[in-house]
Amino acid sequence: MTALLHVDSISVSFDGFRAINDLSLTVEPTGLRAIIGPNGAGKTTFMDIVTGKTRPDSGRVLWGEKAQDLVGLSESRIARLGLGRKFQRPTVFEAQTVAENLDLALRNPRQPLRVLFARRTADDRARALAIAEEIGLLPHLHRRAGELSHGQKQWLEIGMLLAQDPRLLLVDEPAAGMTVPEREHTTDLLRRAAETRAVVVVEHDMEFVRRLDCRVTVLHEGRVLAEGSLDHVTSNPDVIDVYLGR
Ligand code: ADP
Repeated sequence: MTALLHVDSISVSFDGFRAINDLSLTVEPTGLRAIIGPNGAGKTTFMDIVTGKTRPDSGRVLWGEKAQDLVGLSESRIARLGLGRKFQRPTVFEAQTVAENLDLALRNPRQPLRVLFARRTADDRARALAIAEEIGLLPHLHRRAGELSHGQKQWLEIGMLLAQDPRLLLVDEPAAGMTVPEREHTTDLLRRAAETRAVVVVEHDMEFVRRLDCRVTVLHEGRVLAEGSLDHVTSNPDVIDVYLGR
């Protein structure tokens, strides 16, 4: 299977400090992947590079069947190519209802001209309902997003990203601050989303990573320290050293 994303030997320094150090990583077109690592390992910088927010000093970020290099492209261009990013804090339109939030997302970025010219079609309505059901917010369709719980807002934002049909969804600590049942729902949601696209979850909560039950990449000092199942990486002496600080 051809990789969807092939990060090839990227490095970046800030004021002489190497935050990402010759990092290579491959993401398949479908399935879940967790990226873990202690604070300062380079997880955020990695996401910033892939999404075009930070330009690497060297290396390539190859995308899709044609291995297009994303380095140097704008964040919006990269988003339109099908790369969706979810930040840790939910950013939904609080004054709008769940339905309106989904509607905006459905008519939005990957096809900007549609926002200007398209009317809301029966198809859009059906998709909004399907996504609301998928994220578990069908009963809350007409509530303002600002009235939702933290977990529900996170799901709404994931739904808004799904509405744009990304080929890769990058999600930063999706379960932070969630209750146990909310975490379970989040796991199910991400797992279903990963049936038809790549979903990369950046996380430092090991218990949540265990729930995801997927391939794990451990970053440390801007490099890949280990890769494999969670059991495999957590039995690696280097990973144990890094996590226990020995
Ligand atoms: P993580 O997300 O794994 O906690 P980061 O990617 O945020 O790690 O940071 C990796 C390292 O790079 C840290 O030591 C951090 O202080 C440094 N760093 C990240 N961004 C910048 C920046 N814009 N300027 C200076 N140092 C930075």
